[in-house]
Amino acid sequence: MTVSAPPTIDALVDAVATSAPAPLRIAGGGTSRPRSAAAEAPGDAVLDLCALAGITAYDPAECVVTVLAGTPVRQLADALAAHGQYLPWDPPIASAEATVGGMIATGVSGPGRYRYGGVRDFVIGARVVDGRGRLIASGGQVVKNAAGFLLHHALVGSAGRLGVIAEVSLKVFPRPEATRTLVVRTGSLAEALGAHERLRLANLDLDALDLDAASATVSARLAGAADALDARADRAIGVAGRAADTCTGTAEAQHWQSQSLASWPLAGATVKVPATPSGLAAVLDTLAPFGPCRVSVGGAVVYLHTPQAMDAIDAALIAQHRVGAVVRGTGAGTRLGVRPSPAFADRVRATLDPDGRFR
Ligand SMILES: Cc1cc2nc3c(=O)[nH]c(=O)nc-3n(C[C@H](O)[C@H](O)[C@H](O)COP(=O)(O)OP(=O)(O)OC[C@H]3O[C@@H](n4cnc5c(N)ncnc54)[C@H](O)[C@@H]3O)c2cc1C
Repeated sequence: MTVSAPPTIDALVDAVATSAPAPLRIAGGGTSRPRSAAAEAPGDAVLDLCALAGITAYDPAECVVTVLAGTPVRQLADALAAHGQYLPWDPPIASAEATVGGMIATGVSGPGRYRYGGVRDFVIGARVVDGRGRLIASGGQVVKNAAGFLLHHALVGSAGRLGVIAEVSLKVFPRPEATRTLVVRTGSLAEALGAHERLRLANLDLDALDLDAASATVSARLAGAADALDARADRAIGVAGRAADTCTGTAEAQHWQSQSLASWPLAGATVKVPATPSGLAAVLDTLAPFGPCRVSVGGAVVYLHTPQAMDAIDAALIAQHRVGAVVRGTGAGTRLGVRPSPAFADRVRATLDPDGRFR
């Protein structure tokens, strides 16, 4: 096994070309699994992207930033915050050394996806190195740019199988003037699902809506003009039909951090299952026997943390005609449930990685 950590895009191109024909494993911050596990196969060439870091262009007036793939998401978030801007899709483990390339490759969006859309909606361009060491540019550095095949969108969730993401351009937003989170604690999962549904269906313009099934707690975030938040919070509490704790500032940030996957241990496995609000109760019924579950993005995603082997979870998802994936811990990157037809993905891969080097 050889490990290289190219510090420039030219060096990255060179590392991919000169390591041929060895299989290539791409490592970012290693937050989905221990770094040693990511680099364990003998004969593999491991590309550690962490040295390829830095913001290459940032125009706050245009709300566009271009960043090298190894840049920690936390560093990018801090640079944006200095100009009153942020990543609206709320990448959930920004504090744990996750890289921008890893965030794109794993398609990670947090609670903020509820209002604004996910990371794919914010990627406007990328440079990627394919399996033969060719540097390919897709999209651009301006928001209004619609020419050609959107390779930069295909990279979102590609998990290192299409190529090495070297650099990405992202749309960003001004941070809202103020935010406030309502924490609604109920007595049972059925009550929590009821409150979640009422909040989802009311016209409250929520910024985020999550549910922790184990504690039967619903979290709803409001964002916008500071002087409107009291009235908006009162209305949301009325809709929820129960008392709520409210939090702001550091306590609010800590609350959302406590709801993110980062608060679950890396030991065991975290499984991600796409859902729909109408099918939420059924998904929770299927997953709850295996461990604690959290619902994010207003019911669009369910996360399960489990110490158990994946066979039974895989079978349960297949029985429900659902897809899933292990996203952290043992077996990170493994698909579960019904496997979609690989025909289209295989054609894209055959073009970008004809020698099948990316694993
Ligand atoms: C399939 C998958 C889905 C995930 N979904 C979520 C989620 O929804 N929510 C959540 O909180 N966490 C999720 N995670 C956990 C994930 O570790 C982190 O959220 C984090 O964003 C990954 O960043 P990293 O730099 O630590 O990447 P790493 O853990 O180092 O790598 C993760 C994957 O991305 C690939 N990769 C990394 N950098 C690049 C690059 N520059 N070019 C190409 N491929 C690259 C790696 O090969 C590997 O397959 C997911 C992980 C995986 C594997």
